[in-house]
Amino acid sequence: MNAIPTLKLIDGKATAMRVLAEVREQVQALRQRGVQPGLAVVLVGMDAASQVYVRNKVLRAEEVGIRSLEHRLPSDTTQDELLALIDRLNQDPAVNGILVQLPLPAHIEEHRILQAIDPLKDVDGFHSANVGGLAQGRDVLTPCTPSACMRLLREACGELSGKHAVVVGRSNIVGKPMAALLLQADCTVTVVHSLSRDLPALCRQADILVAAVGKPRLIGADWLKPGAVVIDVGINRITEAGHSRLVGDVDFAAALPQVAAITPVPGGVGPMTIAYLMKNTLIALDLQQQAAHQERTACLSPC
Ligand code: NDP
Repeated sequence: MNAIPTLKLIDGKATAMRVLAEVREQVQALRQRGVQPGLAVVLVGMDAASQVYVRNKVLRAEEVGIRSLEHRLPSDTTQDELLALIDRLNQDPAVNGILVQLPLPAHIEEHRILQAIDPLKDVDGFHSANVGGLAQGRDVLTPCTPSACMRLLREACGELSGKHAVVVGRSNIVGKPMAALLLQADCTVTVVHSLSRDLPALCRQADILVAAVGKPRLIGADWLKPGAVVIDVGINRITEAGHSRLVGDVDFAAALPQVAAITPVPGGVGPMTIAYLMKNTLIALDLQQQAAHQERTACLSPC
């Protein structure tokens, strides 16, 4: 097999290491000033994939010096019990970020829980105050995966302004915030979904294509404009020749000769998402410090 030309490969693992090194450095500086950022991770139930995600998040936090506070709750935890925990975490000054691992058990209303998190501690960026703030282009906490994709795109493309970006998928977690961030970066943005007509023709217009669908190798070479930059968010487990493996939403091998650059799966967006959770914890701390400063200034100023 021919080696993959490294210039074409957007190496998410290597970039994630750099992001984590930046975070570690900032945490060290904070600790010298007597501040240790804290991230609370809440898991309800025994979902196997969620347990792995939570373990990885806690490990990464510890690696960069962020204090991680794990809350593992049984699957029969009531909504009120979970709301009470979130209230305690909202009040706790040692907690700068709160992450509730999704999905939650069916008896708990996800929206209710996400809305209960203090928007300044909402490191997933799912609270409607943050979703609205992103749409308005304000300085708010933004979801980790799309923020991570933006970093990869900036490193791969340099200037994004004026480029036509096509986002495949319109979920609240990836597609919609991705489109908002690309718009903020002055791209021309098209969002396509399962009911869009003539997807291949729409995708072929893309200078930048972001795939967040969850369908293995849906996007073939004939959907791509020659020289496009492709970010493949999809993570799909398939069995091929008797072996289980992960593939993206883009047919990587077919796309490679056609594209200017592409993220692999695994090793692309995945490692960057956790790195951006750590980065968001520091952004959350900074926003909290700014809010506290504004409050103090308001108290001191004469009425
Ligand atoms: P969702 O299932 O919430 O959304 C999928 C989107 O894809 C929907 O908007 C849907 O359209 C659209 N879609 C489905 N089928 C098609 C089709 N045939 N053509 C065009 N659009 C289609 O998924 P998520 O956004 O949560 O995740 C997408 C993928 O990204 C998954 O593989 C997930 O595992 C992965 N992921 C990876 C992360 C990472 O860190 N790398 C983080 C988060 C997700 P419609 O709205 O019309 O139904």
